[in-house]
Amino acid sequence: MSRGGLFDWELAEKIGAKIREKSKVGPHAPPSAIALALSRPVRVRPIPGKRQALTIPGEPHILISSELDYWPRREFSVAHELAESELQEKSPKIHEAFCDRIAAAILLPRPEFLSSLVTHALDMRELRQLWPWASWSAMARRITELMPNTIATGWHNAKPTWRTSSNDPFSAEKIAVGVACIDGHGRAHKEGRMALAWLLESQWVLGVSIPT
Ligand SMILES: [Zn+2]
Repeated sequence: MSRGGLFDWELAEKIGAKIREKSKVGPHAPPSAIALALSRPVRVRPIPGKRQALTIPGEPHILISSELDYWPRREFSVAHELAESELQEKSPKIHEAFCDRIAAAILLPRPEFLSSLVTHALDMRELRQLWPWASWSAMARRITELMPNTIATGWHNAKPTWRTSSNDPFSAEKIAVGVACIDGHGRAHKEGRMALAWLLESQWVLGVSIPT
């Protein structure tokens, strides 16, 4: 499953696309609709412990914790469980990161998501209307998976709280985030990067930066 110490992400993409195809629901359907089409209905239930989702071997249902009250989180968990079930049939060892990449490919199918990025010029607010079951951060992370050297960051109270790269934020990002805090949307070009940022609910700022 790994290649040169890294996961074979292309394989994860193929598995995700295959699960979607098998369901025949089309690209604009959430993972729960895919699960239902594959006779894996989703049930929201209290789950003991800290688990967010659960499947019982031999049972068709995908159980999602009622503690997960954000719809996009539930949809991502459904996609993750679909990925895990698919792998369980083939491999005894399952890596969470690999399952998450398959889940992302189910959540936001590569060809359609990439063409929507072009059509909507990376405007996260417009993209969110098109892919309402994907969280802001899932969309931003997916952009970084599909566009080389792209970085996504989440900011709260003017500090980065997560980042898809271990580097310090580029100056273009800091400028775009600063502008977004005031105007709701920021854009900056500096030192070979273009950064875009959006002020979301609850003072969160989402940033995406791409090389130019
Ligand atoms: Zn898992």
